[in-house]
Amino acid sequence: MRRPELLIPAGNLEKLRAALLYGADAVYVGIPGLSLRAASAEMSCDDLAAGIAEAHAQGVKVYGALNTFARNTDLDTVRKIIPGLTATGIDALIVSDPGLIRLIRQIAPQITLHLSTQANTTNIEAVRFWQDQGIRRIILARELTLREIGEIAAAVPGMELEIFIHGAMCMSYSGRCYLSAWRNKRSANQGDCTQPCRWEYRLTEATRPEDPILLEEDERFSYLLSSKDLCLIEYLPDVLASGVTSVKIEGRMKSSYYVAVVTRTYRQALDALIQQKEKYPCDPQWQEELGKISHRGYTTGFCFAEEMINECSPHIKNIQTHEPAGIVSDYDEIRKQMLISVRNHLKAGENIELLLPHETFTIDTQTILDADGNKIDQAHAGNQIYLPSPRHTPKGALLRKATPAGSVDPSASVFRVS
Ligand code: SF4
Repeated sequence: MRRPELLIPAGNLEKLRAALLYGADAVYVGIPGLSLRAASAEMSCDDLAAGIAEAHAQGVKVYGALNTFARNTDLDTVRKIIPGLTATGIDALIVSDPGLIRLIRQIAPQITLHLSTQANTTNIEAVRFWQDQGIRRIILARELTLREIGEIAAAVPGMELEIFIHGAMCMSYSGRCYLSAWRNKRSANQGDCTQPCRWEYRLTEATRPEDPILLEEDERFSYLLSSKDLCLIEYLPDVLASGVTSVKIEGRMKSSYYVAVVTRTYRQALDALIQQKEKYPCDPQWQEELGKISHRGYTTGFCFAEEMINECSPHIKNIQTHEPAGIVSDYDEIRKQMLISVRNHLKAGENIELLLPHETFTIDTQTILDADGNKIDQAHAGNQIYLPSPRHTPKGALLRKATPAGSVDPSASVFRVS
């Protein structure tokens, strides 16, 4: 069985390092000013150069997203940044706009181009068309079934294919949506979606605007526009059998904690699949892990659906059983203590887990020391504290704790759409 590439979102340098630590084969990053995820998910030029160097030192590839639909005013920016980008040694650029493809080809004909899912590639002839344009890899539209993906892979074997296997889904066709631009003046097509499809809506009578009607189902809210999140961990044998080269996780805006958990979980699952082939057992612990990060219930999306449907979760606003507690910034080998940058309020005695690449430890939090070594009984986000760690702990390792409201059984929300 061919080993697929596990491709992880890296919205900043910390997230890129988390992806490296927990087992990514490749990461994708935003290019300042021109990605589809806006400034909050883009790196500075210096961080990008540092991240590429660190990734390459570990044999991990870095792809840069330039997948905006460019306006005339963007073209000069692209002309200016391409030479510098190629000098960083970036492994490929992810593009969607034919104009940018033409422009990049003129400026840097040697650079590898991947076609973004924003280009909505859905059939064999479209793949051949892009192959003729010199595209190395296509990130297929989320709307395809695995059967259709398999047909494309068989018909165009020279093209690398990449698909999403985990993360948020749009209610529109692959992000082609004006809801965010309309409600919040931040356009999804310019990389700035605020995800208003996930907000709570009320129906208002024209004559009684002061008395909105809450859309309800079974006594609870309805989120009629909000899709569940994609999760294919249970179906990785089907995914790999389709012939894809790369499996991709969505979420450049998500936290380092999210990156750590999805990377580690899918790394373990893919390694088990490669070793055990057709006997792949989807370990319930993996689903449990994926329930400990923010999600909206899980679905297999279009992968097994013959009709173009998407699935909303009318009863679920958000599920997250755990939240980040902190990130390790150093480790004292002699005192066996880790220096932690705190992310959420901690109390002495609270149950905290340390996520290492291959295992999870419960940490003794009875004695919290501040950065000067003084005993404290609580710490706040932004504080630096010391806690004991049973073994060498790498910088960038994540710690987590249960959220007060975390409750839903995530394994119950993973199911097949048929
Ligand atoms: S508002 Fe929702 S459907 Fe529209 S682009 Fe954003 S995530 Fe997608």
